[in-house]
Amino acid sequence: MVHDSLRHKGMRRKLVETVAEKGITDQSVLDAIGKVPRHLFMESSFVKFAYKDQAFPIGAGQTISQPYTVAFQTQLLNVAPNSKILEVGTGSGYQAAVLLEMGTQVFSIERQRELYVKVQQLLPKIGYHPRFFFGDGYKGLPTYGPFDGIVVTAGAPYIPEALKQQLKVGARLVIPVSKGEHQVMTVVERVSETEFDEKQYGMFSFVPMLKGTS
Ligand code: SAH
Repeated sequence: MVHDSLRHKGMRRKLVETVAEKGITDQSVLDAIGKVPRHLFMESSFVKFAYKDQAFPIGAGQTISQPYTVAFQTQLLNVAPNSKILEVGTGSGYQAAVLLEMGTQVFSIERQRELYVKVQQLLPKIGYHPRFFFGDGYKGLPTYGPFDGIVVTAGAPYIPEALKQQLKVGARLVIPVSKGEHQVMTVVERVSETEFDEKQYGMFSFVPMLKGTS
């Protein structure tokens, strides 16, 4: 991998320990966090903090999610290798890279052109090949669905119906839904063509999911 070093690997091992101590138990998720060189996804002024378990600015008013949050959402997705995953909010591409390390096929949508352009240059260079889409994630990707899992990485004011309809039966939508200033991590599982089961998993803090593109 480009510009990865023993020092980075060491810091990554510590990050994996931290995330495990905070309660992540899925070994395939921990392995993926241990493989993705997060320092290559950071803005230059924050590179030295890459293996801290925190969110950081990535430009355009957006953030790279906290590794624990990425691990938590990924664990809730319950993905199998070769499954087809939709991500809403490509941002830095870090969550997409974690999913790709787990052997999934990733379709990722970003609504901010600046970030969409930037991530498309970076990811293939460091060996990650999701399919990139510029657009409004509220609509999902009807022509590419249904999906084995959908993960939304911005705080949604409500659960978009279009995303529920793009789940396969048995698949999950993992989405932080706004409640006051924070979001409740919510899992919507499609139990049949017409039935959905909803569960909540604690409070998190995300940048807002916005409408349209910019
Ligand atoms: N998954 C990213 C997290 C980025 S923050 C990572 O790992 O770095 C959330 C991202 O969601 C931002 O880039 C923001 O521009 C994007 N976003 C917000 N609303 C959106 C929408 N309606 N459709 C697609 N992307 C959206």
